[in-house]
Formats: sequence, C-alpha cells, structure tokens
Amino acid sequence: MVDKMVFMFEEVDAKKPMKDLKLLYGGKGAGLVQMTDMGLPVPEGFIIPCKYCIQYAETGEWPEGMKEQIDECVSQLQEKTGRTFGDVEKPLLVSVRSGAPESMPGMMDTVLNLGMTKAIAEAMAENNPRFAWDAWRRFIMMFGDIVMGVKREHFDKIMDDYKAEQGKKEDIELTAEDMKAIADLNMAEYESLTGGTFPEDPMEQLYAAINAVFKSWDSERAVAYRKMNKIPNYGTAVTVMRMVFGNMNDNSGTGVLFTRDPNDGDKKIYGDFLFNAQGEDVVAGVRTPIKLEDLGDTNPDLQQEIYDLAKNLEQNYKDMQDCEFTVEDGKLYFLQTRTGKRAAAAAVQIAIDLLAEGLIDEQTAVLRVEPDKIEELLHKRISPKEKKKPITKGYNASPGVVSGGAIFNCNRAIEAKKNGEKVILVRKETKPEDFPGMLASIGVLTSRGGKTCHAAVVARGIGLPAVVGAGDLEIDEENATANYPDGSFSEGDVISIDGASGNVFLGTVDTVEPEISGAFADYMALCDKYRTMGVRTNADTPEMAANAMKNGAEGIGLCRTERMFNAKDRLPKMVAMIIADSLEERIAALDELKPLQKNDFIGLFKAMDGRPCTIRLLDPPLHEFLPDYKTMLVELTEKRLKNEEDERRAELEKLVKKYEELRESNAMLGHRGVRLGNTNPEIYKMQVQALIEALVETEQDGVEVKLEIMLPLLAHVNEFKRLVDLLKPAAEESLNGYEPKHPIKWGTMIEVPRACLTSAAIGSEAEFFSFGTNDLTQATFAFSRDDVEGKFLLKYVNDLTLKTDKGIVPILTDNPFEHLDLDGVGRLVKMSVEEGRAGHAEAHDGARLEVGICGEVGGDPLSIDFLQAADLDYVSCSPFRVPVARVAAAHAAIKAAQNK
Ligand code: PEP
Ligand code: MG
Repeated sequence: MVDKMVFMFEEVDAKKPMKDLKLLYGGKGAGLVQMTDMGLPVPEGFIIPCKYCIQYAETGEWPEGMKEQIDECVSQLQEKTGRTFGDVEKPLLVSVRSGAPESMPGMMDTVLNLGMTKAIAEAMAENNPRFAWDAWRRFIMMFGDIVMGVKREHFDKIMDDYKAEQGKKEDIELTAEDMKAIADLNMAEYESLTGGTFPEDPMEQLYAAINAVFKSWDSERAVAYRKMNKIPNYGTAVTVMRMVFGNMNDNSGTGVLFTRDPNDGDKKIYGDFLFNAQGEDVVAGVRTPIKLEDLGDTNPDLQQEIYDLAKNLEQNYKDMQDCEFTVEDGKLYFLQTRTGKRAAAAAVQIAIDLLAEGLIDEQTAVLRVEPDKIEELLHKRISPKEKKKPITKGYNASPGVVSGGAIFNCNRAIEAKKNGEKVILVRKETKPEDFPGMLASIGVLTSRGGKTCHAAVVARGIGLPAVVGAGDLEIDEENATANYPDGSFSEGDVISIDGASGNVFLGTVDTVEPEISGAFADYMALCDKYRTMGVRTNADTPEMAANAMKNGAEGIGLCRTERMFNAKDRLPKMVAMIIADSLEERIAALDELKPLQKNDFIGLFKAMDGRPCTIRLLDPPLHEFLPDYKTMLVELTEKRLKNEEDERRAELEKLVKKYEELRESNAMLGHRGVRLGNTNPEIYKMQVQALIEALVETEQDGVEVKLEIMLPLLAHVNEFKRLVDLLKPAAEESLNGYEPKHPIKWGTMIEVPRACLTSAAIGSEAEFFSFGTNDLTQATFAFSRDDVEGKFLLKYVNDLTLKTDKGIVPILTDNPFEHLDLDGVGRLVKMSVEEGRAGHAEAHDGARLEVGICGEVGGDPLSIDFLQAADLDYVSCSPFRVPVARVAAAHAAIKAAQNK
C-alpha cells in the first residue's frame, strides 16, 4: 500500500502542534488547515507536504501513487465546489501556491487562475467580460512565467506598450476588449517564445504547475534568502485551492492585514484593501490601496467582519498575525494567516502588550524578540534639531535612518557595494528578483505600494531601513532620475531616508543615538530577570565604557591596553620605548607612558563605578606600533641617494633597523602576549604599576575598583606563573600598604589550544579565565585571522559545496570568526572550562574559577546556547552589542530551563 501523500484540508489533524504542522505542510498550509478547523471561511483545497518537494528535487519524479492521489483530491474538490475542471459552464479554477515551514515572503512562486482555457474565458465573458479576459490574460502570463520560464518582463512590456498606445495609465482604465487584446498578445508571445501551444487540459496545467512550485524552492532568490536567514532545506509544500476572485466586480476586492502595527506594535488592526483586484496587485504594490481603517466609510459591515475574524485569529495564535483575505462578490474569505513579521520596536511592544493582556507568560514574551533584532532599536534617529525639510514622504515601512547615494538599478547597486559604496536603492516598486539589489543597499525608497508591499515586507524582514509609496516622487528608472514637487535628484546624489517617519531628504541629516526606555526598557528588564550569564563589554576608553553601561553592561570583560598607545600623544613615546638602545632608555620611555596609562585607567574605573574591570596587559607584537615599513624605506632610500645626513635620516635608520629586527614572517604566532611579557617584563611592570596607582587614586576618590589583571596568549602554565611571581611584588610596591576594597585578581586569556588542553594546571594558578576565541579559532583551524576572510573563507561558507546526507551543504556552515565553531573550538572551550574549574577547585579548597569569553563570538546569539551549556559566567562584547547579548543570554537560559 502506498502512503497517504496528498491531503484535503479537513483530512489533516489540525490539532497537532503548530511547529509540526508547519514542518509537514508549510506555514501557509498549516494556517489554512487550522483556519478550516476553526470554521473560518476558507476556500476548499488540498496540500502536498514539503517532503515531496525534496524528493522531487532529488529524483525529478513524484513518488509512486502521488499522481493518483492528486487526481482523487481534484475529484473531491470538484464535488465540494460543484465545479469541474474544463467545464465551460461551471469551471473549477484553482490557485497553486508554495508555502515553506519558515516564512520566505515573495521568494517562491504561485500560479493563479489555473484551469482556465480560452473556451472558459469566452463563456465567463458572457456575464462579466472584463473580469473574464483579465483572468485569462493573467493566467497566460503566470503560467508562461512560472511554469514555462517565459520571463515576466515580456508580458509586462506587452501591457505597458498597450497602455501607452491607448493613452491609458492605470490597469483599471482598461476595458474588456483591451484585456482580451492583451490576452491574445500574451498568447502569441507565449507560443513564439515556448515554441509550443498552451495546454488546454487543466490536469496537465496542474501537474506542470505543481512541479514549477516545487522547483521554485531552489530558485536563485529562494536559495539566497535561505542562506541569509539560515533556513534549512525543508522543501516547500504545495497548496491547491479553489480560486476566489477579488477582481470579479466592484463588490469584490483583496487585502492584507496585520492584527497590530508591524512597525511600532500599536494595538490596532492595520492593513490595506484594494477594490476589484487580485492579491498580487496588493503585494506587488502596483496600485496604491486604501487603508483598511477607511473601508468602514463605504463598507462598515465588511470591515467589522474582517476585524472580528482577525482578532479571533490573534487570540487563537496568541501572536500578531499577518493575514491575506479576498472578498468575492461581497463574500469574505481568509486565504492565509501567519505570524506577522515585524520591526524590532513592534516585536518588543507586542511582546510586552501580550504579556500585559495575559495571553503569554514572561518567558514567552522574552522569546518573542529575536536577539539580533534588538540592534535595530539601537539605530540612530533623526536629531530633533535637524532643520532640513523632507523633499517627500512615503510610508514608514522599516525603521532606521540612512544616508547614501541614490541608485536606480539593482545590478548597479550590487556593483556599488562591491566598490564599498553605500547606496540607497530607488525603484518605482520592488519585485522578488530585486532581492539581491536590496541586500546590497543600505536602504530602499519606492514610489509605489503600501506598508505591506514587497519592498516593505522584505526590508522589515532583513532590518533594512525603507520608505515605500512616496507617491510624490516620479521615478524614471531608465534615466536614473527622480522628480519631487520642488526639484529632482539623479543617480549618485546623496539622499537620506527615515524608515521610522517615512521622510525623505536630499543630502545627509543629523542623527541622535537611541535610548532604552518604555516597552524596550521593560523588555530588557524581563531579559535580565531570566538570564543567568553576565554580560560585560570589550571597551578600551571611558567613552566606550560609558556607552556600554548605558546599554546595560555589567563590567569590562576586555580592555585591550595596546589601543591606549595608539593615540597621537602616546605613539611617539611608545615608539621611543621600542627603539630604545638600552634598558635604562626603555624604562625612561615607559616612565613617560605610565602617567598617561594611569589617567586612562582612572577614567575607566570611574566610568565602571565598582563593576569588574578585566584589563589585559600588552598583547600585540611591538613592530605593529612602528610606522609603515615601506613608507619608511622609501623615505630613507631617498635620503640615502641624496646623501642627506640630517636628524630625520638618523631616526629613520634606527626605525628601519628596529623594524627589520622585530618583524616576523608569522607575527600572529610570534613574539607577543605573555611571550613579550616574559622577555620584556619592564613593559608589564609599568602597566601593572599604572593600574595599581589608578586603583588607589580612584578608591581614594570614593569609587570602588574591581580589578582583574589578564595575561594574554598563554600556552604554558609556567609563562603565567613566572610573570605573576614577577608582577605581584611590583603591584605590592605600588600599593604601598594600601588595602584595596576588593582583592585584585590575576587571570589569563585562553586563546591557544595548548592552554585548553592543560587548563587544569593553568586553572590551579589563575584566578579567572577568559576565552579569546579570535585567536583560539585562528590557532585551532590554523586560519590566519588577518588573511583568510579576504582570501578563501567566504568561499568555504558561500560557494564551495558538497553533497551529504543532509543535502547540498557548503564546506563550512558558518564563518567561525563570527559564530563559534562548536565541533572544534567549542569542544576546546567546554573541556577547558571543566578541567580549568576542576584544577582550580582542587588547588583552592573547592573555590569556583570565574570564566568568561571576550572574543567576537561573545556577542553572537548563535553561539550563546553553547556558552550557556558550557556554564560560562559571562560573555563580553562590543558596547553596541551588549543589549543583543542580554537578550540572547535570556533566550539561552529560558531554553536551557525548558529543555531540562
Ligand atoms: C581574542 O583573541 O579572541 C581576543 C579577544 O583578543 P584579540 O582579538 O585582541 O587578539
Ligand atoms: Mg587574542
């Protein structure tokens, strides 16, 4: 017996958990079967589950028995609807839709009006000619484009040329005769480009359309979207469902709605409605729809019915829904419901509101906001002091303020990005194939569409600032110019868009930094309640530290002291120290640096106001502080050739000689970190003394200091032990009898595999560990962190694929410098935590070793579940990632508790 492979909506067990339903039938299918089960008005239909898409991709065939089951479902559909495929009197027309387990808006294909033939169009035309010929015209176009690969532009051009010839602007001005003429032109184009005839048999149309939808799963744009959003290779389900026509007459229409505002989360139904139109007209933004709130002016009952059903859905799913609906000759149908995509501000507001409404609990509220989304809320806003007047205004489709050169074409946007330019894509509207161009841009501006058009939905999904439907803007894509009421701008001119207000400006605008307040502050407090891992920051200056504190950092996890030497007033002193001829000379140069470092530390300690400060002693190799070798050599050679014997020449001779002495062919593996500390202890001594003197002064000023001194790049415990033996007396000397309020801790960075492997011994000596996963990743993979990303690593992640039992995968699923490599580096981290803690406990009466991470992946949400499981005490990241890490840590803690 063959498996059941094709299901009528009501044959699916709609009570299954949503997660399972989505995996089997895709989000759209799951929504349809549940809405059917809830008794909502949904057109009849059937579903082919996602797994058959994957089977089809692999074998190019349907499994045995699937065709018969499709035929059987078509029979049932005919019975239920009282309509028959191919019947001219009562034809069954269907839509064939894609739908993946995770929402991929606009990335795959849908065929509408399937089942039409010219004979059916002619019969339908007897009652409603314009509608009939329009439906036929659209079907030829969609079937041609999606099933037969005749590019949509061909059909769009026919339409545009026709309208131009007739002097008509909007589709709505076209008559029945016009539609018929366009349908005939479409058919001629179809036949000439495919070299075949249009299939008259609806079953033949259906089989071909199902395969086309399956194939759209692997279309270029769908693959790019999956890669970017890390969506697994689930396959798409195919839904076949009776057509309902929003374009049947003026008593019909189609719309989309969000049950709350997807931009700011405001609790009111928010949507667009277009009379006498099909769904694609709204999504493509070809015509500008009316707001759903204005529908009540003409059709109050219909508006109420839509609102009631939408609220019903939100209560049922306990989350904001994004619904598509159609009204066919006065009768309302819901065609889709799914969790609505939303901007970060809305995600936060909705989570807090649903919690207050008692629909969800605190943990669920925390999990409702993706950690990375939080960064959007940390975007700049336009300064209230900015006096510049906007040149035009559109819908505020996706928040964020950006300024960049206007670019009117997607390919040119992609080129510009390659050249490192920041561009804003300016289009009449965007279509799915524009996705790569949007990805290459820092913002999007369109003249058509509403908040639910393609440009808006996609931009919000990827966090790209966008203003859409700026109707005052006359965009000429061909000539790359745009006219607004008082002027114009052209390709390359700098414009600014504010996706939060919808305003568009010429030139740049003044912006201000964001604030954590209102629902955002409530949400962050909730995250802090649930997270168990601390969040610190990597900060080297008092300003960075103050910013991080505003964002909720609980301490400094890494201060890279070398960054303090790069300032203009320090570098010459640092260079003098490096090129010193004798130890005395070097110590003299260090003595000049010490007060500067001490002042920096006082600034940091005061900014951190009693919170832990992990200060790392000098890490990089010394030659990095010297001027550029080639530039020095050119200058010196010129002087030598000209026999110039001045002071500068003497200096250059010395610098070049020192550079040649110090440089290493593999500096990253060279004379740096504790190796430098052990061979040149006077440098670390100066730093320790500056630290202690700063501590004493800060505490004497009434601010407590929790100082943790960190030694970098340790490979052997003896490197640590020897240095601490040497540095502790220097610290004592500087304390000069002062008793710090908190004991000073001496610890190390674990960033070399040998340190991980011998962490028990190191843990017995050190008072804390902090993982430096940048170097640890470099050393574990033997990937030079300075080179590989620019050479081959991105190919490993994006382009070089192989076939495995999980499908086609790249060599590396992620860039390990961005996301912790769990199998390699992660395992080293885990063992090092366990063994380091055990070694420490054994040597110190069971005391717990404090462990954190300060490499870049410390602020990465994808790495954080692992770090939570490895029982780290804190993660440390750059100041602007701190809120992201707080949210990610809360997610990790809640998920860990749920999985227990
Ligand atoms: C690291 O190696 O992970 C680290 C934080 O140190 P740096 O990036 O300064 O080498
Ligand atoms: Mg390092």
